[in-house]
Amino acid sequence: MIDTKKYKTSLEKELKLLEDEMKKIARKNPSNPNDWEPVESEMNADTADSDEVADEMENFGENASILSKLEGQYDDIKIALDKIKNGTYGKCEVGGEDIPEKRLEANPAARTCIKHAK
Ligand SMILES: [Zn+2]
Repeated sequence: MIDTKKYKTSLEKELKLLEDEMKKIARKNPSNPNDWEPVESEMNADTADSDEVADEMENFGENASILSKLEGQYDDIKIALDKIKNGTYGKCEVGGEDIPEKRLEANPAARTCIKHAK
């Protein structure tokens, strides 16, 4: 039996950190709180020239790609926390076998054993 308490604590901490990171570059979709959308950085329209607009566009694309990465991690952690609640935490999603605790300690959001990791 694995001690899910310690994993829950570190998962919740990680979730909080990720959310803080995501808040810098995105906002929650008002009509779907599980969905995040990238935002453009603040821009002063009065002083913006075409170069700055180009920078902003680049910035927006960068934010979107960072966001999708963070969102992936965020979802994995959410799934892991759900599993703790449902009592299925620590099982490989592919083979159903126990994930070694060493792996969970390194990555509490791991969804598969090492053999079945993509
Ligand atoms: Zn497996």
